[in-house]
Amino acid sequence: MKKLLYFILDLIYPPKCVFCRKIIDAECKGICTECNKRLPRLCGNSRITRLEDGISCFSSLRYDSMVRDSFLRYKFYGAVSYAETYSMLLAEGIRDIESDFDLLTWVPISRKRKRRRGYDQAELIAEGTSVLLGLDGKRILYKNKETKAQSLTRDRKERKTNIKGAWSLCDGADVKDKRILVVDDIVTTGSTLSECCKVLKEAGALSVTAATLAKAAE
Ligand SMILES: [Zn+2]
Repeated sequence: MKKLLYFILDLIYPPKCVFCRKIIDAECKGICTECNKRLPRLCGNSRITRLEDGISCFSSLRYDSMVRDSFLRYKFYGAVSYAETYSMLLAEGIRDIESDFDLLTWVPISRKRKRRRGYDQAELIAEGTSVLLGLDGKRILYKNKETKAQSLTRDRKERKTNIKGAWSLCDGADVKDKRILVVDDIVTTGSTLSECCKVLKEAGALSVTAATLAKAAE
């Protein structure tokens, strides 16, 4: 019901800030002036999460309550229009990375979950971000099994085991000698991203870098 309610509200009311839900002008691109000022933007080393095999993950925002509340509406209550604003924030963070990329892809959810939710939250952000950065955005990975939500696992070891072997390369995906940027919504321990980066490396990618909208503390 809540999902439907948000959908109807979005149809009836003009654009709102994705963080505080205050009505704003369309040119504000989804963020009001106040939220834009107090957004927990990360900079320097604080935005980096070290993944396995020396791979770095760059995040734009700290996953504090302001970001979390907004993100939960996006992920579970159908606020799909937020993807546009999130893409802008993610692209902002990626522009600071001193590397070039040939391809941008994302950490996909399973087909079953996508059918149930109606969209893949990381895919929508990846699409918007690739357009903003002028990068070739492509589906490269698919999730081959259902896994328990990482938030329900007890520790780092269980997180790792839970998602081991859960992603595979799509048929015909060519990553050989490509510099790939993998995006996702949130990074916590980095187990999920590490697992996806491993698949790409094993398939012959020249380099793999990760980027997320937000970074949560463990
Ligand atoms: Zn706001």
